[in-house]
Amino acid sequence: MEVGARTHVGKVRPTNEDGYLIRNGLLAVADGMGGHRAGEVASGTALAVLREYPFGRGQPAAELAAAVQAAHARVRELAHRDADLRGMGTTLTAALVAEGLLHVAHVGDSRLYLWRDGRLHQLTADHSVAAELARAGHIDEATARRHPHRHVLTRALGIDAELEVDLAEVPLEPGDGLLLCTDGLSSLADDGEMLGVLEKAATAQAAADALVELALARGGTDNVTVVVARLD
Ligand code: MN
Repeated sequence: MEVGARTHVGKVRPTNEDGYLIRNGLLAVADGMGGHRAGEVASGTALAVLREYPFGRGQPAAELAAAVQAAHARVRELAHRDADLRGMGTTLTAALVAEGLLHVAHVGDSRLYLWRDGRLHQLTADHSVAAELARAGHIDEATARRHPHRHVLTRALGIDAELEVDLAEVPLEPGDGLLLCTDGLSSLADDGEMLGVLEKAATAQAAADALVELALARGGTDNVTVVVARLD
């Protein structure tokens, strides 16, 4: 698997509360939220728990789900201990590639796409107020993209006691690619534009760099993080 990644503070925000993880077959992005530097702590903590989790002992799907719950528990524990961190949370979108299968764990509005046969397939559903309204048929996709509550999350890691995580498994094929990104990219570029950049780039790293540049060219209104993987 060839992997490239880049994170950037963008052109407006004072700090970068996004982060990413690349660990063997495990890829993840996280977009933290909270006052002061709490968002950075939330995303960094969640990714650190995934980085240190002892994978390889049991079923990959069960281990990924357990790792995300461990990350959730750790973020809550830190928030409980430190008043400056109270209320912090983070999105977390993780992809684990093991034995020809893609295992997905997802909370929040960061995204995972499967890039296959010249098309991008979004494998995750955004957990935002606007996206939930669109899925329920109350508003259309175009309205959702401009909705005042498009950035308001309905689910995030580290907030409530119980965390519901979207889990999925997808069989992989030779030549497949993966794209993980935070909303700093997906709110400024549509799927067709992202696909165009992926198809033009010579390497996974060139693709990640070009996608971040696209978000910056559109104003860089948020932190932006991209991970691109191309399977052998
Ligand atoms: Mn964001």
